[in-house]
Amino acid sequence: MSIGVIGGGVTGLTAGYELAKEGHQVVLFEGQPYLGGQASTFEIEGARLERYYHHIFTGDEDMMRLIGELGLTERMQWLASKVGFFYEGKIYDFVTPFDLLRFKPLSFLQRIRAGLVTLYLQRFGDWRTLEGFTAQEWMRRYAGQQAHEVIFAPLLRAKFGEYADQVTMAWLWSKFKDRVGSRSRTMARELLGYMEGSFQPFIDALADGIRAQGGEVLTDAPVERVIVEGGRVKGIQAGDIWLLDKVIATVPSFVFLDIVPDLPAGYADQLREVRYQTSLCLVLKMTRSLSRIYWLNISDPTFPFVGAIEHTNLIPPEQYNGKHILYLSDYVSKSDPLHSASAEELMMHYLSSLREINPDFDVDWVEDSWLYREDAAQPIITRGYSRRIPSYETPVENLYLANTTQIYPQDRGMNYSVRLGRVVGELVNESGSFSWPVGTRRVQG
Ligand SMILES: Cc1cc2nc3c(=O)[nH]c(=O)nc-3n(C[C@H](O)[C@H](O)[C@H](O)COP(=O)(O)OP(=O)(O)OC[C@H]3O[C@@H](n4cnc5c(N)ncnc54)[C@H](O)[C@@H]3O)c2cc1C
Repeated sequence: MSIGVIGGGVTGLTAGYELAKEGHQVVLFEGQPYLGGQASTFEIEGARLERYYHHIFTGDEDMMRLIGELGLTERMQWLASKVGFFYEGKIYDFVTPFDLLRFKPLSFLQRIRAGLVTLYLQRFGDWRTLEGFTAQEWMRRYAGQQAHEVIFAPLLRAKFGEYADQVTMAWLWSKFKDRVGSRSRTMARELLGYMEGSFQPFIDALADGIRAQGGEVLTDAPVERVIVEGGRVKGIQAGDIWLLDKVIATVPSFVFLDIVPDLPAGYADQLREVRYQTSLCLVLKMTRSLSRIYWLNISDPTFPFVGAIEHTNLIPPEQYNGKHILYLSDYVSKSDPLHSASAEELMMHYLSSLREINPDFDVDWVEDSWLYREDAAQPIITRGYSRRIPSYETPVENLYLANTTQIYPQDRGMNYSVRLGRVVGELVNESGSFSWPVGTRRVQG
């Protein structure tokens, strides 16, 4: 079969790779000049670095299996994480259950209660019984009002902003599961995985795998339209017209609606129902370190960013000519005035807060900065979401959708994009073939 894959992120590359291995003729279209999507990288100090901070957990089995198959296991480094909470002007370590017991902003009884709730969720919780509650109502009831406001509400606000109070408890449960999976047996530390030289070799190996089977991987090739005739896919328009048997779209739902304008109303409405939060990620290259923490959660609603992720507290600065790399992360809706702010405007907006974290901080430390903005960063996962997940098979015959709105109850991440790409690849492979009588490519005009 000739199969078009729209999008060269982890999902599209995995689906394309799996189908190419099965002997199908794969053509992958990526709109940007580079592959990797949300996991793509840029050059900094002669090295590659993700546009958005990335690590994986020890429990990310789908990702590790694929990394192994691509011969990249040796490149994985497992490093002890340093996670912290910034609360009322102070940094608190927050890696192990013992850190929670030492967390002074809560009374001793509140700490015990929050600890027991955390343990319950990690060991026994079942998302099916939790998804009917919002995380806010469940946590307030069981962990207590104070623990919710200080610890859990900031985690929800960090991702979902103004929608934080609508998020289902099943989503928060999955975060606990991921984290416990990355703990050492003694629970004394958490290990996070990062690939030597960034995750770029993983992205490259998937693209090479498609090409090695005779497939094509095209960059700078935005798909303008999926061609549908008589309720069935006929091909793709991406500059040229490509005639294809099947098409898998791995783009965000709002892009899918644009490129498939005649999508039947019921399915289109379902896609429109799931909104996304935009990620704003300001990357700073600095001469000095902001703090000793890798992942600093900000538990202060007045702060203009929700996380300070100092990459060089996980990977040594020597890998980047001694420079310190800090991501300042915020999630906003498209209507937020910050959505269109420039890197300089954000820097000014963040300045006094950076000084609250480290009073010595000076803008002179910042040698360079980059601002990355991803509108499909986080689908907003509300109560009863399992009933609203869009299906992989769309009402258009031979047209499939695979994107982060279908990852549930787990939080979206590369591991689940790998799983999604593989599952949809298998579905397409097993769904039988239908071949157009002409070849795959026709130059327009
Ligand atoms: C701030 C942030 C931090 C993250 N941190 C982590 C982490 O630590 N660990 C982890 O595992 N995951 C992390 N993730 C999530 C992870 O990166 C994503 O879940 C995963 O990369 C999504 O892959 P995808 O292929 O489904 O989507 P995408 O990466 O969004 O890929 C979709 C692709 O489609 C392309 N496209 C769009 N329109 C068109 C068109 N018309 N024609 C052709 N191509 C088009 C896009 O350019 C893009 O390349 C993070 C994400 C963000 C935003």
